[in-house]
Amino acid sequence: MTQTYDIVVAGGSIAGLTFASEAAKRGVSVLVAEEHDEIGEPEKCDGLVSLRGLRKYGYPPKEDVIQNQIHSAVIHSPSDRHFAVNATALDVVVLDRSAFDKQVAAEAARNGAEVRTGARVGAPAKREGGVEVKVGDELVRCRLLVDATGPASSPRRGILPAAKYELEGEWIREHVVEVYLDAARYPGFFAWVIPFGKHRAKVGAAGYGINPFRALDSFLEGRGSTILRRVSAPIYVGGPAPSFVERRKVLVGESAGQVKPTTAGGIMTSIAGSVISAKWASAALKENNMGSMAGYQREWESVFLKEMRTMLRLRGVLEKLSNPDLEAVFSALATPKFVMKLSQTDFDFHATALLGALGVSGLLRVARVVASAEVRSLLVEG
Ligand SMILES: Cc1cc2nc3c(=O)[nH]c(=O)nc-3n(C[C@H](O)[C@H](O)[C@H](O)COP(=O)(O)OP(=O)(O)OC[C@H]3O[C@@H](n4cnc5c(N)ncnc54)[C@H](O)[C@@H]3O)c2cc1C
Repeated sequence: MTQTYDIVVAGGSIAGLTFASEAAKRGVSVLVAEEHDEIGEPEKCDGLVSLRGLRKYGYPPKEDVIQNQIHSAVIHSPSDRHFAVNATALDVVVLDRSAFDKQVAAEAARNGAEVRTGARVGAPAKREGGVEVKVGDELVRCRLLVDATGPASSPRRGILPAAKYELEGEWIREHVVEVYLDAARYPGFFAWVIPFGKHRAKVGAAGYGINPFRALDSFLEGRGSTILRRVSAPIYVGGPAPSFVERRKVLVGESAGQVKPTTAGGIMTSIAGSVISAKWASAALKENNMGSMAGYQREWESVFLKEMRTMLRLRGVLEKLSNPDLEAVFSALATPKFVMKLSQTDFDFHATALLGALGVSGLLRVARVVASAEVRSLLVEG
């Protein structure tokens, strides 16, 4: 006999599990299916996140899921000039992402969702009042299908190849995140160091058209390191999808492009997308009025769209900067006042905060270095 649920969620990572937990809490029958055998594995994400954002949406990590607290961020120019931003007020931590996903899976199950692993969700077929999908070997019917399959289905534009190692090295500073800008080595992105313990870090590199492993190996030359784990995973920086809802299918998390285009951080924005969409989906199913699902996109955009657009413009500027431009921007901006203002910003809304810290005079200084349409549009916004 075909099993029936109100909702089938394809993808048991942070977005799918949060959605399942929130929908089940509202009395909706939910099956969340993950193609891998273990929730949280294989782990690809670095887990850098603000506690403020997670608390706001009701998903604070348990103490033992937090690997590290971040006290400062150091930004390096191509010639290795740098400035440090005090991050103690930003409440930023590094999570064990695999353990965090397991925490949310347990919460979803406690709320009544069925969590199935080792079960790939196939392409949906339309049926009267819903859809039919293969979940593993079984045929399942549902009234709504949630696509939380991540980069597999996120819009293709804006995907960058990335590589990351988890490693040990004496050179790693325990509470300091480091970002290395270099338009030649990491075009359109950067290399990063995210410490998750004493002398341990998640170190990565991404960029348009590069071999990220080669870039990472070159970054590590001269930095004595023991590599514990190698991960290859694309990052998404293309901005939100134009439409989150397609008839009986709803996109959440990275599938919906709910990822910051500046840093590719998507934990908090995906959780937010799932919390908001589950609320609208549960109500739409109870009222049998799928039209009301439009409220999901409206609500998510009312919180995040302006920030995402600003991030996309900043990304547009970054993609145009050569290394001499980057050095000039550093000279123009690395003032004590700017750095101090950055330390009082909101990690999750850093593009708006960065514009605020720059002010019109700062933007004019950037505009002298880079004459681009993106900087002009930021000036209009500022
Ligand atoms: C190298 C790297 C580092 C990152 N670091 C950070 C960071 O420090 N901070 C941050 O906020 N964000 C970070 N991110 C981004 C963050 O990991 C993602 O935005 C977030 O995981 C998106 O969650 P999601 O649930 O939408 O998708 P995903 O986490 O990608 O999960 C999708 C899930 O769907 C499953 N799946 C796919 N197809 C099917 C199918 N047909 N049937 C069943 N299951 C399926 C997959 O196996 C996977 O488990 C990083 C990403 C990468 C690649």
